[in-house]
Amino acid sequence: MAARLLRSMALRASMALLQCSRSHKSARPLLALIPPSTLGTCRSKKTWPKTFPEEELRKRLTPMQYHVTQQKGTESAFTGKYTDNKEEGTYHCAVCGAPLFTSDKKFDSGSGWPSFFDLINKDSITLTDDFSYGMHRVETTCSQCGAHQGHLFDDGPRPTKKRYCINSASLNFQAKNSASEEVEASGGAGQSPPSSKNEEL
Ligand SMILES: [Zn+2]
Repeated sequence: MAARLLRSMALRASMALLQCSRSHKSARPLLALIPPSTLGTCRSKKTWPKTFPEEELRKRLTPMQYHVTQQKGTESAFTGKYTDNKEEGTYHCAVCGAPLFTSDKKFDSGSGWPSFFDLINKDSITLTDDFSYGMHRVETTCSQCGAHQGHLFDDGPRPTKKRYCINSASLNFQAKNSASEEVEASGGAGQSPPSSKNEEL
């Protein structure tokens, strides 16, 4: 019963997100008529520890990454590259590289977006009320650079019962194996790996 309820809630949330992205697109021509200086709604007024020039971000990010992180966009469900990623590792902010989520807190929500039940630490994400599109949601933003990540819902699994519904486009995944190789290469590992190249002899 509870599981079915959760699933239907998740489905409703994803429908809402889809509607959100659609209505955002249809709102564009209207926004184009308004001078950019008056467009205060797309970006938060808060200042962030890290800022990047718009030009740099347009070059460095894909159009989807730019749209999602800088214009609070939403990628379509089941299209993001990390939705079904089950590798062990860390998810970093696609804009500033801050670590935000770990694979051990990721779960399959069925929503079509990468979903996490907890953060890497409680300060890594800033929560803001989002009243856009006639509904109340809680927006999740990178605390370092203000990049839009997604939304937070209260229908996640135990122990937190939270569901951080995050766009793949807002994230860069670093596999655990690649991270440990870096540590070994820099001499951080205490033991020599069994397959060392016998260069000591
Ligand atoms: Zn960031």
